[in-house]
Amino acid sequence: MKNKVLKVGFDLDGVLLYNPARIARPIIYFLKKYLLKRKTDQFYYPKNRLEQFIWLLLHKTSLFPQPGINELKNLIKEKKIKAYVISARYESLKEDFNYWKKRIDPDNLFSGWYYNEKNQQPYDFKTRMIKKFNLDIFVEDNWDIVKKLKVKSQKSKVKTKIFWIYNLFDKNIKYQYKFKNLKEVVLFLDVRR
Ligand SMILES: [Mg+2]
Repeated sequence: MKNKVLKVGFDLDGVLLYNPARIARPIIYFLKKYLLKRKTDQFYYPKNRLEQFIWLLLHKTSLFPQPGINELKNLIKEKKIKAYVISARYESLKEDFNYWKKRIDPDNLFSGWYYNEKNQQPYDFKTRMIKKFNLDIFVEDNWDIVKKLKVKSQKSKVKTKIFWIYNLFDKNIKYQYKFKNLKEVVLFLDVRR
């Protein structure tokens, strides 16, 4: 057990990439629930070209890689972890996804980069991938998804720990594996060896 290489999955937006738009999420949640009376457990999916364009612009606010990426790559090089990128980005964001793959991981250090090409519900997609790769840990920034993944992993035999990177608005929520940013996660993964 001592030399086991941890398999760790990382969400892209808000985890590996800095995304100022994600602090707007609680506001969007409120709008959907109380003003539009939409079912909030259904994630928004862009239907036409205009909506897809706006969706792309929103994701373009993921402007730069988070501090901690280099330290994360060191953990991979030292064979302390195997890293997977698992993003629920839809098919329409394929090109932008591939851009970030090349920019963050030009030497293919990560074990794989996966996005949601079949446009499934984000948590269904992530659950499937976590199971597929038998991940020990998955790092996610969206609290709604963290809650759902936690329940699913408790029910199944795969005991994946869901690490949560919180933001300004939801930092008061109590949770066992709660982190401020990617750097804190990487530090935790390093010192637990
Ligand atoms: Mg995210």
